[in-house]
Amino acid sequence: MNNRLYGNLIFELSKEGRKGYSLPKNHFGSYEIPASMQRSEEAALPECDELTVVRHYTNLSNNNFGVDTGFYPLGSCTMKYNPKINEEMAAQPQFQNLHPEQPAETVKGAKALVSLLERSLCALTGLAHFTFKPYAGAHGELTGLMIIDNYHRQRGDMQRKKVIVPDSAHGTNPASAAVCGLEIIEVKSQANGQVDVEDLQRIVADQGAEIAAMMMTNPNTLGLFETCIPEIARLIHDCGGLMYYDGANLNPMLGACRPGDMGFDVMHINLHKTFSTPHGGGGPGSGPVGVREGLQDCFPFVSPFHGNFAVMMRAYAYILSLGREHVKEVGPLATLNANYIKESLKDVYELPIDGLCCHEFVFDGLKDKSTGVTTMDVAKRLLDYGYHAPTIYFPLLFHESLMIEPTENESKETLDGFIAVMRQIAEEAKTDPELVKSAPHDTPIGRVDDVLAAKHPIVTYRQMVSENLK
Ligand SMILES: *Cc1c(COP(=O)(O)O)cnc(C)c1O
Repeated sequence: MNNRLYGNLIFELSKEGRKGYSLPKNHFGSYEIPASMQRSEEAALPECDELTVVRHYTNLSNNNFGVDTGFYPLGSCTMKYNPKINEEMAAQPQFQNLHPEQPAETVKGAKALVSLLERSLCALTGLAHFTFKPYAGAHGELTGLMIIDNYHRQRGDMQRKKVIVPDSAHGTNPASAAVCGLEIIEVKSQANGQVDVEDLQRIVADQGAEIAAMMMTNPNTLGLFETCIPEIARLIHDCGGLMYYDGANLNPMLGACRPGDMGFDVMHINLHKTFSTPHGGGGPGSGPVGVREGLQDCFPFVSPFHGNFAVMMRAYAYILSLGREHVKEVGPLATLNANYIKESLKDVYELPIDGLCCHEFVFDGLKDKSTGVTTMDVAKRLLDYGYHAPTIYFPLLFHESLMIEPTENESKETLDGFIAVMRQIAEEAKTDPELVKSAPHDTPIGRVDDVLAAKHPIVTYRQMVSENLK
């Protein structure tokens, strides 16, 4: 990688009077911009030749890391294979150039795609209807909870304002409930990582008449299949609440089982995680919400039109390219890959909850705690070896959480390479702990002070200069 220019800001490359463009001779005469519309001083823009600009931004882009550049074992946020054919499909001008206000008879193809995708998702989840309006997973959660809230209110059941959320849940679950104006009740996990049904029974006995819903992720955030769902669903339904399924990462379920069959009433899916849209850094996303028959009358207005249509196109292309046969292999392969890594590393990394996992699992740091090497150090050292770090310090159930999800698409050789590096880092932690604690060594930027970076981010050029001058 040519990093010669790395570290320079485009402003530092600026040379007064240099231009990256040349305009043709003006044949139109001069026109004075009214003084009231002119700026009083010239804009401080960088002045560079074209090649400098191209190289600057190309070199910056080479510092990006993505699924197309390397293995990306981030847990609870499925970063998977994004087949390029789906990009091609989503870029078809017949679809890409549509305007949402076009007359309905000119967008029949797009409408057909929406209903075909809806049919596919219904078949995969066991639910009856989907809305595609939500722009992301968290937006889907909010939409789903609004559906549940509307359902209770339409029945005149006004006091149901509480949502039960397991302590292992993704942070968006309680956040969405709060945004929806609902109160959160946390239900504990047992030592085996599953929802504590006795704790749940106590909650339901105490506050059953106020329970709007229970939100669950299954497999849960520890990558464990919740085995008590039929019992949990019965408890919640008996007290008048509804069951919400967080299907952000649906890949382990594809071909294994369906939320609708397990007793869930409402769910969202992150098309951008499970059905192949490159994401990260904030978008684009799509969080369709599915409901059991009857609840479609409770869909709220959360956005105009059909959300991010191109994400839906990629999802449908992905489902079609897998087909009915191969879509069933997604879950089992995701599960196989995660268990393969887990079993290959559990003698050197602490596995707090042993047993079969689904698509992801959580280590509690290195097994040998005497070295003082933390999960943060391991994650930073992985960067030196060309791997994206796994999810760290989440879930909050353990002090040194290191959450790994390989996804279903990675080859055995890729998994073996990652396992070898993780073992190498465990070895380094023993023989040369300082090497790991001071990592990364081979990245353009070394270890940053996370607290300072979060509390005093310097995001503008001007500020940076003045900071440097201090
Ligand atoms: C990613 C994720 C979400 C939130 O999805 P966004 O698209 O990031 O809003 C919710 N729940 C779980 C389990 C997730 O992994």
